Amino acid sequence: MPVSAAASAREILTRLHDVMASRAAAQGKLNSVVNIIGEALNSEVCSIYLLREGALELFATRGLAQEAVHVTKLAMGEGLTGTIAANVETLNLDEAAAHPDFAYRPETGEDRFHSYAGVPIIRKERAVGVLAVQHADPRKYDEVEIEALQTVAMVLSELIANAGLIDPAGGGGTTRLQSTGTARVPGFKLVEGMAAGAAVFHQPRIIIEHTVAEDIEAERHRVYAAFDKMREQIDRMTSQAEFGGGGEHEEVLETYKMFAYDEGWSRRINEAIDSGLTAEAAIERVQQRTRMRMRQIDDPLLRDRMHDLEDLSNRLLRIVSGQLGTAAQLGLRQDSILIARNLGPAELLEYDRRRLKGVVLEEGSLTAHVTIVARAMGVPVLGRVKDIRRLIAEGDRLLVDVTEDTLIIRPTAAMDEAFEAKLLVTQKRRAAFAALKNEAPVTTDGHRLTVMVNAGLRDDVAALDLTGADGIGLFRTEFQFLVSATLPQRDSQRRLYKDVLDAAGDRPVTFRTVDIGGDKALPYLDHDENGEEENPAMGWRALRLALDREGLMKVQARALLEAAAGRTLNVMFPMVSEPWEFDEARTLFETQRAWLESRGHKLPLHIRYGAMLEVPALAEVLDLLLPRLDFLSVGTNDLTQFLFAADRAHPKLAVRYDWLSPSILRFLRRVTAEAAEADVPLAVCGEMGGRPLEAMALIGLGIDRLSITPAAVGPIKAMVRSLDRAKLITAMRGMLDRPPQDMRAALEQWAADHGVELA
Ligand code: PEP
Ligand code: MG
Repeated sequence: MPVSAAASAREILTRLHDVMASRAAAQGKLNSVVNIIGEALNSEVCSIYLLREGALELFATRGLAQEAVHVTKLAMGEGLTGTIAANVETLNLDEAAAHPDFAYRPETGEDRFHSYAGVPIIRKERAVGVLAVQHADPRKYDEVEIEALQTVAMVLSELIANAGLIDPAGGGGTTRLQSTGTARVPGFKLVEGMAAGAAVFHQPRIIIEHTVAEDIEAERHRVYAAFDKMREQIDRMTSQAEFGGGGEHEEVLETYKMFAYDEGWSRRINEAIDSGLTAEAAIERVQQRTRMRMRQIDDPLLRDRMHDLEDLSNRLLRIVSGQLGTAAQLGLRQDSILIARNLGPAELLEYDRRRLKGVVLEEGSLTAHVTIVARAMGVPVLGRVKDIRRLIAEGDRLLVDVTEDTLIIRPTAAMDEAFEAKLLVTQKRRAAFAALKNEAPVTTDGHRLTVMVNAGLRDDVAALDLTGADGIGLFRTEFQFLVSATLPQRDSQRRLYKDVLDAAGDRPVTFRTVDIGGDKALPYLDHDENGEEENPAMGWRALRLALDREGLMKVQARALLEAAAGRTLNVMFPMVSEPWEFDEARTLFETQRAWLESRGHKLPLHIRYGAMLEVPALAEVLDLLLPRLDFLSVGTNDLTQFLFAADRAHPKLAVRYDWLSPSILRFLRRVTAEAAEADVPLAVCGEMGGRPLEAMALIGLGIDRLSITPAAVGPIKAMVRSLDRAKLITAMRGMLDRPPQDMRAALEQWAADHGVELA
């Protein structure tokens, strides 16, 4: 009598449901399960093997000799059972003994049985056991029966997890859908450093708590609602990304959308619900089946599409289960390496920096704010590592070697040792740099430069003492806004600024007023009051937003003025595009100052106002602006993206344009000359200044003040102390008048010829 897959699985599931709800001990439940399945599939044998201490142990059987229970053990890859677990694949054979992996175990008495079907029991992408049926007649099990077995295996994984029968992850011999061996994959250097730890996915895999449905209609309803919500999200995403004129992006998004609306997918999930699974289990069940099918297809294009489907499936699971949290919200347990496609700066800041040892991104670029935040946190980041979700499973040991642009997955003991040894050398080098903290950044021809640090978190201030820097040249005040769940009140802003000034002592601190918007969106601020921004980096951000949201800026001005009472307050405004914007911001501060004064508050002794040069247009009106400034600071991160019209966070553009290109260097030369002419101190506070060769080039343009990431202070001091500035200035004049084919190579050559120490 032909039965539908749903009906046959449902009948079994209804009976399993009662077993699972019963108060019997785990072994008793497993014994009942093998009987139910054997009966339902009309099979003489049904057995459950579970992974224990690295081997697959026969835990329960109907039809094989009972003496074999807890006696018969198979290694991963051994026999049919071991093969199923090792490859996470289903086997369906009419003659088991004919299979090359067949291993006969006399104690089981299985020689009477010819046909064999086995499916893996999967938990968190690992095979944790095998469910097998055997039959005396040589016949293949039909599709419907295999489907039913696979569905039952899902339910079993819940049962054995609840009964604590699963080997802890990594407990030897466990296998995954991904590859299991050691792998070395290339990446792109985003934040220097080395880190070892366990892989943690930013968006963790959903743990399915219940697999058997109580009420099938209710489950169906839940899945429909989740589909609606997911499709809404995808529609919004695709409509925001209007690229026009075709192109890879558009194609990818279109396919993604096509999958989201795929009737076949939703129908299969529906059928799985019909068979008695909960919404979550049904989504996972369909996903498992797709994974198994796709693994047999060796087509990279299809594999990419598989990622999309995997992504959508996870999205659907998250929606339906309400498990929307990230790994940060769940809390890191140990030395962790965070894995994500990409992250926002606020998302990264949510992590406990003591446990977060490194970050591996599928995308990422050098000047994206998440990279800057990671640099500030001292967390190494390797970007643009392809295929990470396929290669890595949660909990895998990883070695991140950003210096070598590589990631080692599941290292061998020898690799671990070599890594440790290298880490030691790096630490020694770092110690050598740290020893420079009491040495001034003076060039060999006696020119004293100013090397300051960029900061933004309270703890960053410690970097001043650790590096012996001359002050904080850029304090990114928006970091406090990014880490808090609501808009920080004046009091908490004032406290932070005061703490920073106290810790800095007589070293100057330059506070930059909030630079939010762009890739630093605040969830609690209505960024899109004028509709979604198509290009937030060039949108309503930084000073533009602050001048429109006067209240926000006033609160910050008051907090800064109060915090700096009795001292000098250095304040600068980000993204000034025209001189009037600077004037307005300054007036706002002055009005607050007057107000405080009128109420008898103690005021800063002196206020110095500066502007950031990040928008190229400002360079054309410097003659108008400079006379009103106390200082100018060039933000080369934004400046470069606007000069080259290249999104600073775009992974594909990450290496396309060079900071050492004649266009940037000539631009900076002009600005430097104008500032010098007007006698206005000029600094560079973008990431460029923290890289030894780039910093050397800046010095060669006559720039004397750098504000850089703390980790770079040692290497930059070492470079400065080996540099003849006057000679470099002359050489660079020539290079910029008649640029060589490759400016970077020419500067590297010059450094090598003149003994400049480039870390
Ligand atoms: C810059 O743009 O160079 C800069 C220093 O500001 P931020 O990186 O915070 O945008
Ligand atoms: Mg900027």
